[in-house]
Amino acid sequence: MDQSTDWDVVVVGAGPAGLTAALYLARYHRRVLVIHDGKSRALRIPLTHNAPGYPDGITGIDLIARMTEHAEKYGAEMLEMCVSNIRRADGAFIVSSDGQPDTRARGVILATGIFLNEVDLSRDVHEQAIKDGVLRYCPICDAYEHTDANIGVLGCDSNGAAEALFLRQYSDRITLMPLSHPELTASEQAQLDQAGIKVAHGALAKLTPHSDRIEVALEGQQEASFDVVYPALGCSPRAELGTALGLGLTDTGCLPPEAVTKSAVEGLWAAGDVVEGLDQISVAMGHGALAATKAHNWLREQDGETLT
Ligand SMILES: Cc1cc2nc3c(=O)[nH]c(=O)nc-3n(C[C@H](O)[C@H](O)[C@H](O)COP(=O)(O)OP(=O)(O)OC[C@H]3O[C@@H](n4cnc5c(N)ncnc54)[C@H](O)[C@@H]3O)c2cc1C
Repeated sequence: MDQSTDWDVVVVGAGPAGLTAALYLARYHRRVLVIHDGKSRALRIPLTHNAPGYPDGITGIDLIARMTEHAEKYGAEMLEMCVSNIRRADGAFIVSSDGQPDTRARGVILATGIFLNEVDLSRDVHEQAIKDGVLRYCPICDAYEHTDANIGVLGCDSNGAAEALFLRQYSDRITLMPLSHPELTASEQAQLDQAGIKVAHGALAKLTPHSDRIEVALEGQQEASFDVVYPALGCSPRAELGTALGLGLTDTGCLPPEAVTKSAVEGLWAAGDVVEGLDQISVAMGHGALAATKAHNWLREQDGETLT
């Protein structure tokens, strides 16, 4: 085993993807360090109902705590800091963070997730609205909980139209509202009409969340009250460490799906939301398992330990 590096694998990210990768690597008897900056999106989940194995749901904080404990039990180590740069030198990856000593690893798994593009509310009010379930960002995750509810969708463009149509499976009371003005094509408008989805006009003036509802004021319109509002404003993948190392991006700014199993950079893999696909806990876990196993087998190959 090469002892000139500090770690066999550094995993950047302590969300469902990174922690699954760390668990698998630790159980392959690999020296694995998880570096994270404490910003897993999962930590913001009030109660997830679609994480398999938790029929009564589990909070994101609880899930991440359990996953961390699980990976640590087998020897994975955790370090909280923001990675500012990763580069290759002398056959190793050098992981840097401002003001901290560098870390050397033979392989790296990027499980850095995404940032949501959010509505403009103060941090406290925004997070309370998420906890109260009146502001939601992921219909796949939680639209079931709003079956037959009065649902607003913010963002009157193709993304918003697609999200409104997706939500139509759950309720026949859906209203699509613009942030500034509607940008729908005639065909999109026709499909929304056919599905019975209302399209409101007027720029968003004010969003007022309460514990059981959320009020939306559009310029020139009477204030409307909804059980829940889903902003459809897209996201910003945290892909910059990957692109700096030479990985490409998809049209949506994510790392390409093949980076989970065979990336364009030797010794580098990616997992979870940062990879183009379905932004879900179960997918992130699957990616983590795959990337970790690829990394382990690559290390075995490097060390001449595989069947030839
Ligand atoms: C409110 C809300 C509700 C949700 N509900 C559900 C649900 O019910 N079901 C479901 O399946 N999904 C749900 N999701 C989505 C789910 O949280 C994500 O799909 C999941 O967290 C993705 O895991 P990940 O490991 O890819 O990324 P994340 O969990 O976001 O983790 C990314 C990690 O990378 C770290 N990181 C990034 N860049 C750096 C850096 N430069 N240096 C150091 N660390 C870095 C972060 O600190 C973090 O630890 C929800 C999300 C939100 C916000």
